[in-house]
Amino acid sequence: TLAGDLEAALDLIRDVPDFPEPGVLFRDLTPVLSDAKALGALVYGVAAACPAADVVAGIEARGFLLAAPVAYGCGVGMVPVRKAGKLPAVAAKVSYALEYGTAELEIAVGAIQPGQRVAVIDDVLATGGTAAAACELVEQAGGVVAGVVVVLEIAALNGRAELEGYQVTALRTV
Ligand code: AMP
Repeated sequence: TLAGDLEAALDLIRDVPDFPEPGVLFRDLTPVLSDAKALGALVYGVAAACPAADVVAGIEARGFLLAAPVAYGCGVGMVPVRKAGKLPAVAAKVSYALEYGTAELEIAVGAIQPGQRVAVIDDVLATGGTAAAACELVEQAGGVVAGVVVVLEIAALNGRAELEGYQVTALRTV
């Protein structure tokens, strides 16, 4: 079944202790992406979980890997939400707090048309800071957030609290 194929794909996510720093359990989607059947099931699963949208935004870098095939499958365009300093023409920029320091996300001029509905996609929802910044960015750029879709949600970190008011869908919650 489709649901069974998706579960089997999600079972391939690899847990890597102490990466990128001690105490972090890194959820690595690489084994899902490299398996033809699992990749298909994952892309189909994210697309099926996607709210109706005019465009799909992927958060750098692993969100890109999903957002592009999902957008293609849904027949809409794809917008990269980029880390600061990568885009030649920036329409909007949002700073957000990391555990140590801050980070910035940017979106390109012309990527989102006023009033367009945008589905925001990433691989993992942890504290929610990144996804919340991406949503704020989409709004600053004139879009409307249709919802957030992630492959894996780490419930203990309560990222949903950062995303109040947005529809958040996780394919798997751990
Ligand atoms: P956060 O802003 O805390 O929700 O972190 C989410 C971003 O960091 C996403 O872009 C994830 O790719 C990445 N990330 C955070 N924690 C993990 C983790 N345990 N495993 C894999 N990626 C993570």
